[in-house]
Amino acid sequence: MKLSLVNPSHAIGGVKLVRARDGLRSLLADARRSGESIGLVPTMGFLHDGHLSLVRAARDGCDVVVVSLFVNPAQFGPGEDFERYPRDEGRDTDLAASAGADIVYAPTVEEMYPEGFSTLVEVQGVTEVLCGDPSRRGSEHFRGVTTVVAKLFNAVGPDVAYFGQKDAQQVAVIRRMVRDLDFPIRIEALPTVREPDGLAMSSRNAYLEEDDRVRAVALSRALRRVEEDASSGSLSAGIEAGRGELAAAGIEPEYFEARDAEDLAPVDELDGRPVLVAVAAQVGGARLIDNVVIEP
Ligand code: AMP
Repeated sequence: MKLSLVNPSHAIGGVKLVRARDGLRSLLADARRSGESIGLVPTMGFLHDGHLSLVRAARDGCDVVVVSLFVNPAQFGPGEDFERYPRDEGRDTDLAASAGADIVYAPTVEEMYPEGFSTLVEVQGVTEVLCGDPSRRGSEHFRGVTTVVAKLFNAVGPDVAYFGQKDAQQVAVIRRMVRDLDFPIRIEALPTVREPDGLAMSSRNAYLEEDDRVRAVALSRALRRVEEDASSGSLSAGIEAGRGELAAAGIEPEYFEARDAEDLAPVDELDGRPVLVAVAAQVGGARLIDNVVIEP
């Protein structure tokens, strides 16, 4: 890291917390001029080890690391958890710094969506299935994601942006957006970080009561069953067994499906392409998602 190039006057324990896009741009201008690479880790905050694995990867791969913290209202539907989504900016800033972030960009809602804001970025096709199914979060959820990520890409101008495979559909959607809109940005997708018992880390795990926290492990157990059965050749048997795991824990999934890992078309059996097996379920107060990719 060579951020001595950058005015250190806003430093907080070595990391700079920035709220305004103009301030962010001027912080990054010198670094960019001197040819330093910029890595971006977009998050909604309440950081855990899953997020921090992305920050560490950015630290390893880039000269300057920007972590954004923004609970994006545009990706929450009416009745979803925007208001109660957990927030702790001070703790997040410390954690991001400890994992190697140079800059924490935490814009306000007014900064991101000023009065009169009226442009949306929409990817079609891959946004209308799984979580984007109209009976679930709907494609509007991903439209909110792609709009904010496009804005973050424009504000930061990263060389590399880091995302978690935990949100596999989001990765597929962002890759499509980057390709279609010619963003000169490399997308890195990193493996899902799990609790010791297998539960995928998520900021929303904070909503789980103790007994729901125990039941929630059934999601990763179900996915492991699919992996095991797939290794002996049968995807459909694995999905069946996985459904059994969920049912045994009293979990009715929103979906538990196999899809082509890239275009998200439905897949019935393994056919030599990577297959995404994805699950979403409400467990107590938390809507949880998880997935595995079965490589050929
Ligand atoms: P979020 O704050 O939930 O929007 O997540 C920000 C980024 O962290 C996204 O790219 C997520 O996919 C990624 N992420 C969230 N949870 C995990 C996890 N358990 N392992 C790896 N990456 C994760």
